[in-house]
Amino acid sequence: MAKSILVTGGAGYIGSHTVLQLLLGGYRTVVVDNLDNSSEISVRRVKELAGDLGKNLLFHKVDLRDKQALEKVFASTPFDTVIHFAGLKAVGESVQKPLLYYDNNLIGTITLLEVMAAHGCKKLVFSSSATVYGWPKEVPCTEEFPLSAANPYGRTKLFIEEICRDTYRSDSEWKIILLRYFNPVGAHHSGYIGEDPRGIPNNLMPFVQQVAVGRRPALTVFGTDYATKDGTGVRDYIHVVDLADGHIAALRKLDAAGIGCEVYNLGTGKGTSVLEMVAAFEKASGKKIPLVMSARRPGDAEIVYASTHKAEKELNWKAKYGIEEMCRDQWNWASKNPYGYEPPSSK
Ligand code: NAD
Ligand code: UDP
Repeated sequence: MAKSILVTGGAGYIGSHTVLQLLLGGYRTVVVDNLDNSSEISVRRVKELAGDLGKNLLFHKVDLRDKQALEKVFASTPFDTVIHFAGLKAVGESVQKPLLYYDNNLIGTITLLEVMAAHGCKKLVFSSSATVYGWPKEVPCTEEFPLSAANPYGRTKLFIEEICRDTYRSDSEWKIILLRYFNPVGAHHSGYIGEDPRGIPNNLMPFVQQVAVGRRPALTVFGTDYATKDGTGVRDYIHVVDLADGHIAALRKLDAAGIGCEVYNLGTGKGTSVLEMVAAFEKASGKKIPLVMSARRPGDAEIVYASTHKAEKELNWKAKYGIEEMCRDQWNWASKNPYGYEPPSSK
């Protein structure tokens, strides 16, 4: 009998790509999402991409903080594991609306953990972030580095990591994997699913993509005086399909004996500057990206990239794709869906 996996936030960017890999891997998958930052069309497209296996996907429009609704979902299916993506993720918005972020991300997670425990489901994979490394003193970042947060969004990730560690300490039946994502970009190679942020994109590549399709005039480059090869910030960009596969590796690891609450970086281990990323995207798309050089963005780190050693050794997982493939697939998605899943009039 195939295992059933509950995916919170499964209509979103990383969630939708992970749900597809789960279906293709033979898992039954139930998505709960309140569609706050996503469209149900992504769920439909994932179903189509999965072909016959699409029948193993169910969707519930549920807010994680709605305990009764979540109870019903758990009553309908015995879940083997929960993969927990659901959360708000815009750094700037979190500074403006901290209580919204604490309410959504923390209360959502606590409610989820309570309902899981009540239903005897004690296996969890959680979406943490490289943001918990703050401005790292050195690179690559290993999982043992000291943790910090520069904004309320980052603090929700730190707090949830601690909540997970405490939950395991209180009850050793829990098996939890915290995945610290570096910078997910790109899209499924079909160009049928991809990232579709609401409003002005905060992240580099969704912004670049919107400039390329003519939705925005230019990319503002935040900071040209960093101590990096060309003065712009360096990050570890990872293809979203590689990231999705990292979750399948985490599921396998959860079945191993002796795992308590473990943390793994999911990155490529390579640093790429803003200008290098723009050049790679220009090459992939044939589009010129006009640039406006500007001051540093407050709170931004200079250079962040992952040590991938622990994930390679213990999850038996390694990213396969480089920035060429990331930009090729991002452009394929953008050119086929310049306005994302829904035309401008319906947004
Ligand atoms: P996303 O916004 O595309 O997906 C998150 C999904 O969660 C959305 O579909 C949203 O509607 C849903 N959601 C939010 N609050 C909810 C709630 N209370 N109840 C039910 N559904 C809710 O974001 P993403 O890029 O796919 O990120 C997924 C996770 O990974 C998030 O937790 C994010 O913080 C984390 N993460 C993302 C990145 C990144 O750069 N994309 C980096 C590190 C970590
Ligand atoms: N960046 C930029 N212009 C933008 C968005 C981002 O120059 O419009 C830079 C940012 O300063 C950082 C890099 O691109 O050096 C990646 O930023 P992103 O927000 O995507 O990821 P994060 O900083 O959270 O790792």
